[in-house]
Amino acid sequence: MSTLEIKDLHVSVAAEDGAKEILRGVDLTIRGGETHAIMGPNGSGKSTLAYAIAGHPKYEITGGEVLLDGEDVLAMSVDERARAGLFLAMQYPVEVPGVSMANFLRSAATAVRGEAPKLRTWVKEVKGAMSELDIDPDFADRSVNEGFSGGEKKRHEVLQLSLLKPKIAVLDETDSGLDVDALRVVSQGVNRYRAAGDVGVLLITHYTRILKYITPDVVHVFAGGRIVESGGADLANELEENGYVKYGAGAEAAS
Ligand code: ADP
Ligand code: MG
Ligand code: MG
Repeated sequence: MSTLEIKDLHVSVAAEDGAKEILRGVDLTIRGGETHAIMGPNGSGKSTLAYAIAGHPKYEITGGEVLLDGEDVLAMSVDERARAGLFLAMQYPVEVPGVSMANFLRSAATAVRGEAPKLRTWVKEVKGAMSELDIDPDFADRSVNEGFSGGEKKRHEVLQLSLLKPKIAVLDETDSGLDVDALRVVSQGVNRYRAAGDVGVLLITHYTRILKYITPDVVHVFAGGRIVESGGADLANELEENGYVKYGAGAEAAS
């Protein structure tokens, strides 16, 4: 079982008028077996948190720590983070023209496992995982994320989750661009993976919709670059009713 600890994290991005501080002291601990949801208005810095944990070069860490089982994540390369058991699914997954899904997934699995999966068992593994997620078999031959619909990109993320078997998974806006059927399939995929082991999940979302399918243990409200309130799953219902107005950062309702 793994623990991800985020301590007093400060992150800035370069802006035209100098560096702009986006994260202003984020404290969060996620233990294996727990699912935490982060909810907050647009522009509050939720994706910045995900990118900072992922090691995206645009985001400068100006203070604080991120530890995975006591190891300094911020000192690791992006590959090392994956090998250590961190999984980051991004709100806008990148397109990789000319690289088929099958090859992409096998390289990703090789990077994480430290050796290439045996081709025969790998093909079986991928086919099994794809059918569980109602993914068309032709998908394996298509270029990574090229021309994928929103739903296909999200299924792809959950497919990676089930194949790469991370210890801690950060899922950013996993519900965006999904119709109800796709939302159900994607949520079932995440739930299946949660049930199969001791994964710690950080689910970042603007809407409460996905939390009807994936029940979090803890809900954190994110505003102005930090966590301003934490509570149980009920807190999500309260947000759905009242929006984020009382947190003063964006008067937008949650749904
Ligand atoms: P959220 O995911 O909560 O909607 P983001 O983390 O995407 O919020 O954005 C938080 C703030 O940081 C916004 O004001 C956004 O414009 C700014 N920001 C995020 N990424 C960048 C970037 N790469 N360059 C400049 N500004 C950025
Ligand atoms: Mg946003
Ligand atoms: Mg975002």
